[in-house]
Amino acid sequence: MQHSDELFCCICGLLILEKERKNKEHEPPLSRGGTPDGWKWAHFICNCIKGNNTQQEFEQVAKQKYIKALHEWNIKQRDKQIIKRVLKEKYK
Ligand SMILES: [Zn+2]
Repeated sequence: MQHSDELFCCICGLLILEKERKNKEHEPPLSRGGTPDGWKWAHFICNCIKGNNTQQEFEQVAKQKYIKALHEWNIKQRDKQIIKRVLKEKYK
């Protein structure tokens, strides 16, 4: 087991599993003055839900946004699984 290889989502804080889609999250967002070098890994779906909000703005409405995405967005099953895990572990 190589724990140093484990990646955590900088948005929800949970482990990014190998089979899960991930991408680079910029904080602050590029469109809000962030730089291309200032990024961390995030779940692809967490990044989509966060959009161009700053982490601080996002945290105030995060639970509602995750719930809305789960019920209203037309997304892949594996992205739904991530949202369900986030809602269960982060916003119980
Ligand atoms: Zn995440």
